[in-house]
Amino acid sequence: MGNMIAMAGFVETEHKGGTRFRLFPQLPTLDQQGEPETVWVTSPAGSVMPGPSDHRMYVIDPVGKERAYGYYPNRDGSTFHFRPPWQGEILPAAHPDEDGHFDHLEFDTFEFQQAHAFGSIRFSMDIWERYFGRRLEWHFDRHYDRLEILFLRGLDNAFAGYGSIEIGSYTLKTGEMVEFGLSFDILSHEFGHLIIYNEIGLPGTHDVNGEYFGFHESAADMVALISLMHFDSAVSGLLEASHGNLYSYNRLNRFGEVSNFGQIRSASNMVTLFDFADGWVYEHDLSQVMTGALFDIWVDIFHETLLEDGLIAAEVEDLSDRLEEDPDYQQVIQPLFDVAYARNPSGFADALISSRDYMGFALADIWKRLSIETLDYADVFETFMEVDQHMTGGRYHRIIRTNMENRGIGVISAGPRLSPPDEKSHAFSARTSVPEDTEHHRCRRVPYSVRMARARSNSP
Ligand SMILES: [Zn+2]
Repeated sequence: MGNMIAMAGFVETEHKGGTRFRLFPQLPTLDQQGEPETVWVTSPAGSVMPGPSDHRMYVIDPVGKERAYGYYPNRDGSTFHFRPPWQGEILPAAHPDEDGHFDHLEFDTFEFQQAHAFGSIRFSMDIWERYFGRRLEWHFDRHYDRLEILFLRGLDNAFAGYGSIEIGSYTLKTGEMVEFGLSFDILSHEFGHLIIYNEIGLPGTHDVNGEYFGFHESAADMVALISLMHFDSAVSGLLEASHGNLYSYNRLNRFGEVSNFGQIRSASNMVTLFDFADGWVYEHDLSQVMTGALFDIWVDIFHETLLEDGLIAAEVEDLSDRLEEDPDYQQVIQPLFDVAYARNPSGFADALISSRDYMGFALADIWKRLSIETLDYADVFETFMEVDQHMTGGRYHRIIRTNMENRGIGVISAGPRLSPPDEKSHAFSARTSVPEDTEHHRCRRVPYSVRMARARSNSP
C-alpha cells in the first residue's frame, strides 16, 4: 500500500511550487482511513491570502446569514434578489503559515473547514483547467470577478448559484452532523455545475430539453468522480479493494453513502432511459442514466487498457464484460483479477489513471462542443463519438455505442418533466438566476424559477 502511494504520487510532482492543503477525499465521518491527504493547488505559495482567497475565489464564513441567496418576495409583492457579496459580519478567516501553505490547521476548527472548502474547489479547478487546456471562466463574470464560497450551516444542501457556492450541513439519522465543507465530493460537484453554466449555458434563459437537467447533474457528478480519482489514496484504495475488478466492489460506489441527500448517489447503477419513457420528476434520477453510461464506458476502457498493456488475459476481460448479467461470474473472475493485480499493481494504477484522463479530456471536449439549444442525451452520445474519433481515431466507438444504447440513449428520449423543480434542484433554482440589469435596461421578464416558485406557493 505504501509503495502504491509513492508510485502514484502524480499530484505532488505536478504542482510543486503551488500551495499545500489537506483534503479529505471522502467525508471524514464515513471514511475508515480517517486521514486527510496533502494536495497541491497551482496558486503559488504566498499568493493565497487569508480566507483563503486568491484571484479566482474567496471563502467567507458569515455570521447571522439566515437564508440562502436567491429571490425573495417583499411585503409589497415585488421581488428582492438577495445575492453576493455578503456584506455582514464573518468568522475569523483561515490564515496561511509563514510559507504560505494551509496544511497546518487543526481539524476541529472552522478555519480547517474554510481551507478545506477552498482547497477542494481550487484543486478541482486545476484538474479541469488541465482537461480543458485553458482557463475556466465564470458564467457570472459580468457581475463578479471572483467566486464567493460561503458557509450556511444548517442549510440541508449545497448550491452553486450566481457568483457563489453555498455550503450547508446535514444531520445523519444517528444524529451526527456532517459538514459539507468537509466533503470533497459535494464541493467538487458544485464546482462542476459552474463549469457547465459557463461552457454550455444557463437554463431559464433558453428553452431547454428536459434531458438538459439530467445531463447537468450527471456532468457535475463526473467532475467530482474524476477529480476524486486525483487523490493518491483514492486510486490506491480503489485498486487495493477491487484488485482492478471495478464491477465488483468499488470505492466509486461509496459516493452514495451520505444518502438521503439527493446529490450523492451511485455511479454504478442499472437505470436506463426506458425507465423514464413516461416522464420524470427529479433530475437526480434522470442523471443516473447518463452517469451510469459514462461510468460503464470508463470501466470498459480501463479493462481494455489492462488488456492492451498485457496486465490481464483476454478471457478475463471477456468474462468481466458479462459480469453485470450474471452474478455468478463474480466468483470466477475475482480470483483472476487477484492474481493479475498482485503481479503488477503499479501497472494497474497507470491504467486507471490513463483511463481517468481519457474520460477527463473527452468530457471537456464534449462539453466544449455541446450547445444548450440542442442538448439532449442522444446529442451527448453523438458528440462523444465525434470526440473519440478526434482523440483516438474511433478506437472506443464500440464501447461508447454499446454502453449508451444499453441505457436507451440514442434509442428513445425521456418523457416530459412531470412536476416542477423543487428546493433540492441544483441546476435550476432561484439561486442560479442572473441578476436583472437595472441600470441599462430593465428586464421585465420575471425569471422562470420565480414564476415557478410563485405558482407553487399559490397552489393548494
Ligand atoms: Zn447537483
